[in-house]
Amino acid sequence: MARKIQAIRGMNDILPDQSSVWLYLEKTVADVVKSYGYQQIRFPIVENTDLFKRGVGETTDIVEKEMYTFDDRNGESLTLRPEGTASCVRAADQAGLLFNQTQRLWYTGPMFRYERPQKGRYRQFHQIGVEAFGMGSADIDAELITLSARLWKKLGLLEHVELQLNTIGLASEREAFKAALVEYLTGFKDQLDEDSQRRLVSNPLRILDSKDESTQSVLKNAPNLEDFIGEESQAHFERLQAILKANNVPYVINHRLVRGLDYYGKTVFEWVTSHLGSQATICAGGRYDGLVEQLGGKATPAVGFAMGIERLVLLLETLSLIPDTAKFSTDVFIISMGDDAEIASFVLAESIREIDLGRVVLRHCGGGNFKNQMKKADKSEARFTMILGQDEIDSGVCQIKDMSTGEQHTCLLADAPTYINEKL
Ligand code: ATP
Ligand code: MG
Repeated sequence: MARKIQAIRGMNDILPDQSSVWLYLEKTVADVVKSYGYQQIRFPIVENTDLFKRGVGETTDIVEKEMYTFDDRNGESLTLRPEGTASCVRAADQAGLLFNQTQRLWYTGPMFRYERPQKGRYRQFHQIGVEAFGMGSADIDAELITLSARLWKKLGLLEHVELQLNTIGLASEREAFKAALVEYLTGFKDQLDEDSQRRLVSNPLRILDSKDESTQSVLKNAPNLEDFIGEESQAHFERLQAILKANNVPYVINHRLVRGLDYYGKTVFEWVTSHLGSQATICAGGRYDGLVEQLGGKATPAVGFAMGIERLVLLLETLSLIPDTAKFSTDVFIISMGDDAEIASFVLAESIREIDLGRVVLRHCGGGNFKNQMKKADKSEARFTMILGQDEIDSGVCQIKDMSTGEQHTCLLADAPTYINEKL
């Protein structure tokens, strides 16, 4: 036998027993974002490498060590998208959608990052992203966060997640804070973990994120970001909080929350859960007023977030929050013996679907004897089995078996589609 080729490490197949959860989640998200007026945008999985270098930032973890970058046959450097925001900005700006107008957009699809695969962390993973352009005031930050809270409510997750909120101010405020932080931390350099030592030069803000105990204890007496936040950023942050409070969206302020991407400023937030181990963040985002201009467009305020579908699916499964209606199940299984009955079974199946396409109607294909076909019906776990043989065709009837009780009765073939739809 030929050697089987395996999937790439960290890139998962979504098998039929899982895909129904994905469909349920995607449908719920589509309904929620639509009700807030967000329209879907789709853009390619591959972009020019420069888009992410410039967009996400050269010194971020993503660009430094996580991108799938390759030269195409023309020698052009391309990258499998590690996130959606930069692509979304590129696509919307290229189409002229950002010029002097507001946009509410969302997208879904695979992202690629070369990380160490573990539960809730993969190399191909999927995000749903929501982005709002052209609005600089705090009410749109609040709208996005409220939208996400509504989604959790709809999914039954609201009581299992916590909203962490922070403001990281304007670029100039962050620069002043960074300088003070670097100055302070340099004095304790040998007590910092290796990553943080490196970040002291490349991306000092990320040191606040470090999980390392020694680094965290050094940070206890470090300068505080909140002391560097100016009036405008503070007013923006307070307005956001006032709206969230009025909407009963609970949150906690986490002054250490900085996010890993360079483009954020002012608002940043994460929804975290205690049910997924260290992959605790299910949704993260913030304001990125500088990005459109940084990518060559006209300065446009923007705010957005992305959620990880795999982590959401894991969370829904862990908490048993997947409704029965979201699970795949067969309503009717039709078996037929003989050529005439086979044709009649087609007509019957189509008539049932004609009345209600929401029903799952399975026809046994390829004939076979009654006993074997009944075994298949059992295995399908259908609620009803409809049985057609030559005798039934001759009398214009079919047998309907209720698989939960075993009861079986004869029904006029012409009445059967309506009858079964009423029963289901
Ligand atoms: P983390 O701190 O967990 O690495 P991040 O800050 O890199 O997350 P973002 O780039 O903000 O994450 O992406 C938003 C969301 O996408 C995350 O909150 C998470 O739910 C999901 N996500 C990010 N990276 C992965 C991954 N490698 N595998 C699965 N989901 C991911
Ligand atoms: Mg990451």
